[in-house]
Amino acid sequence: MNIRFVTLSLLLSVAVAVSGCASFKTLEPGGCGSSPNEHACLGKTVVPEQQADLFIRSSKLAIDAIASQEFKDDLARFVRDHTSSGKHSDAWAGIDASSIPDRLLKKTEGMQIATFGGIKGAWFAICCGTRAREGNSVGPILLNRWYLPRSSESIANTIVHEAAHRIGLTHPHSSSDSDIANCEPPYVIGSLVEKHITGADWSSSGHCKFL
Ligand SMILES: [Zn+2]
Repeated sequence: MNIRFVTLSLLLSVAVAVSGCASFKTLEPGGCGSSPNEHACLGKTVVPEQQADLFIRSSKLAIDAIASQEFKDDLARFVRDHTSSGKHSDAWAGIDASSIPDRLLKKTEGMQIATFGGIKGAWFAICCGTRAREGNSVGPILLNRWYLPRSSESIANTIVHEAAHRIGLTHPHSSSDSDIANCEPPYVIGSLVEKHITGADWSSSGHCKFL
C-alpha cells in the first residue's frame, strides 16, 4: 500500500478524532455588544473551551458593527451604487436596505451559536468550503470547527452572514459562481462587518469586487 496514502489516512483519522472530541464551554447569554449596545447579546453559545473568549470578542464586534452608523451608511451606499445591474442584482431586488441593520440587530439578539466538526465538518469543508450552516433556522447557527479558530473579525463576518439568512436574504449564486455570490446580500453584509472591524488594514481580496 502506498505509504503516502497510509500516512495521509492516519493524519486525517487523528484530525477527525481531535476535531470531534473538543471539550466545550456554554456561554449563556453569549457575547454582548459594548456600550451603548451592551444589552444586545447573542443567545446560548456552545463552543470549544479554548475559544470561548474568542467568541465573546467576535460577538461583541459583530453587534457593535451592525449597530454602527458607518455600517448603515456603507451598506446604503453599496445598495445605491452597485445593485441595479449585474448578475448579483436579482438577489437585492425588492430589499429595503435601510431596514437591514435594525433587522439584523434584532435577529442576532438571542441567536444561538454551536459548532460541528468531525467527519461531517471535514466533509463540508472538502466538498463546499462550508464555514457555517444556518441549522434549522430556529436552533443555533452552526460553525464548522475545521475553520476554527480564526480571527475575531472573520468569525463576526460569519455570525452576521448567518443572521442575514435568518432575515430572508440569500446568495443564489453560491454554488455556481463565488464572484457573483460575494456581491449578494449575506456575503456583502458579512464583508462590510469584517471591513469595519478591521479598519484601514482590511483587504477586499476574496470579497465583492465593488467593496
Ligand atoms: Zn450563506
